[in-house]
Amino acid sequence: MCMPSVLVVDDTASIRFLIRTNLQLAGFDVDEAVDGVDCLEILAHREVLPDIITVDVMMPRLDGVNTVLAIRADPRTRDVAVVMVSTQGHPADIQRATRAGVDAYVTKPFDPDFLVQTVEEVLERTRERREKVRREGP
Ligand SMILES: [Mg+2]
Repeated sequence: MCMPSVLVVDDTASIRFLIRTNLQLAGFDVDEAVDGVDCLEILAHREVLPDIITVDVMMPRLDGVNTVLAIRADPRTRDVAVVMVSTQGHPADIQRATRAGVDAYVTKPFDPDFLVQTVEEVLERTRERREKVRREGP
């Protein structure tokens, strides 16, 4: 079976490491980006898109919300699942992220098991949705 792939986007190396380690243990193929610009560049140059992206909010150059807006605006990447991982758990922040098009929102500090579980759930939902579209049409 093909390993699910994830792109972890965060400007803090220790957080990337934490997310990477836990997702690798759960069987994911993990790639990293250091900010939103790096994320969009990786996506533009990759022949095969990741199955899911985890994205931080506060990042230099391009923040998480604007990164998600760019991902959703591009027909090539708009269907990739996105989980936002943020220190900002205020309802207004979550609403802003939801409107930008994230599939789930996890607040820092997070329980690594909860993050893995969220990523797996979103991936499962995305697969079911694709399956349904394939069977019934959009
Ligand atoms: Mg950050």
